[in-house]
Amino acid sequence: MTQEILDLTAPTRDRAFLKALVPDEKLRVCIQCGTCTASCASAYAMDYTPRQIWRMVQLGLRDEVLNSKTFWLCSTCYACTVRCPRGIPLTETIGALKRMAIARGIRRYKESSNFYRAFMDVVRRYGRVDELELMVRYFLSTNPLAMIGYTPLGLAMLTHGKVTGQEGLRMAPRLVGVGRGGRLNALFRKVEELEAEP
Ligand code: SF4
Ligand code: SF4
Repeated sequence: MTQEILDLTAPTRDRAFLKALVPDEKLRVCIQCGTCTASCASAYAMDYTPRQIWRMVQLGLRDEVLNSKTFWLCSTCYACTVRCPRGIPLTETIGALKRMAIARGIRRYKESSNFYRAFMDVVRRYGRVDELELMVRYFLSTNPLAMIGYTPLGLAMLTHGKVTGQEGLRMAPRLVGVGRGGRLNALFRKVEELEAEP
């Protein structure tokens, strides 16, 4: 966790950040009790704890928040959300942080953002996760050579039936990145439309 002193006089403070992130501004009622941090199994690895992140959002520290790795490490377990005494939709807000960072092209933790993108593209295509294609898409978008290092692990998993595709065990994934068609295409398009609305 980060112990740095944040500059609250920085000109980059964005007073509209909270509203842009949570339209109903529910985060304003956070009382900094720390229950979210105490409930979070990933907090130990974050640079700012969930409680710190919510205070930073309140203070308009947009750049510091969007460049942190905190929200990328969220596993969407909802523990913080169900325990927050103020009923703040924290997990949804973390999802909004991920979307905002991607929309602004913040690439500091591109391995994480690329993983999410690959995951959603595969789900859009098949309606479920296709593990083999997910891994191929992810490595192609980050570091294709890294795939070589994972070959022994991949082969071991394949032979034990731990990596399957749409029709069960198979050695080669389909061609990736072909078109935007898919079983959940209509649903994804609708969400994109809704999110594009002002
Ligand atoms: S649990 Fe809720 S009220 Fe407490 S610090 Fe976290 S967000 Fe704020
Ligand atoms: S939803 Fe994310 S931030 Fe909240 S407790 Fe779970 S991992 Fe932590």
